[in-house]
Amino acid sequence: MTRDRAMAAEQAHGAPPRRIAVTIPILTNIVRAIAGEDFQLTTILHGTADPHSFEPTPKDAFRVAGSELLFGIGGHFDEWAVRLFGAGSAKAKCPAVFFLNQLSESERREYLLLSSDAEDEHHHADEGFDPHIWLDPILVRELLVPRITTAFSACYGEASEFEARAKSFSAELTTLDQALRAQLSNLNSRKFLAIHSSWTYYCRRYGLTCIGELESSPAKRASMRRMVALVELARSKNVELVVADNAIDAITANKVAAELSGRVAVIDPLGINSLESRASYADVLNNITTELRTALGS
Ligand SMILES: [Zn+2]
Repeated sequence: MTRDRAMAAEQAHGAPPRRIAVTIPILTNIVRAIAGEDFQLTTILHGTADPHSFEPTPKDAFRVAGSELLFGIGGHFDEWAVRLFGAGSAKAKCPAVFFLNQLSESERREYLLLSSDAEDEHHHADEGFDPHIWLDPILVRELLVPRITTAFSACYGEASEFEARAKSFSAELTTLDQALRAQLSNLNSRKFLAIHSSWTYYCRRYGLTCIGELESSPAKRASMRRMVALVELARSKNVELVVADNAIDAITANKVAAELSGRVAVIDPLGINSLESRASYADVLNNITTELRTALGS
């Protein structure tokens, strides 16, 4: 248990446990795989909050205060954490790590997709990358693991410990990728309509067709015009499954599915319940994939 070990470390060294802040739950699982058990990780997003529109409160700033390092996805996705980290952690030991912001031009070209909003001509392509990279284990291995490892090594030394954990976690991600591929190999249908655009990298990796990524901003949710557009799109593609990320999306999903005589699956792409159960990143991805496979039919 992190807390027990952190408390044991405190008693042993007479110093409070080292605290790290992470923006979203599933990223906490990824960071923990490299950090090991001697850090106290605080996940900023909690409950049913939507990361795209999250507005931190003073209470959140208090929870993050004293964190020495911050990890976030980057872009416009969780930039609210910049203010929070700045406000709550004046004594932050190390610079915050936002993965999308650190990628090289060639990494962006090789790995990233544009968000559906960015395809809109009013947006600059360079600020409009799809942020949902954590749902592809290979992107996690290639883009996140090296940067998390570098950040811990730079901040705390002991590079060989972090590197050893990164190496075994990378191997685990390779195995996970193969396991997910096998899980999704014999499906009745490989397409679904997503109410929110969380699934694009995952679908690209596993040869699924996710349609309906018409919005990435919750502000656009639930308008009648949008619902009609989703129904028409789903009909034209003969889609029967509508995937909702959470209870709010499920309201739209149920309406769309009713029009299609289709069905709804609610699948959480953020691993919100994984923190309490201490499920690993691989557990979360395996669970998501089992839920999706069941919903698609195999
Ligand atoms: Zn999202």
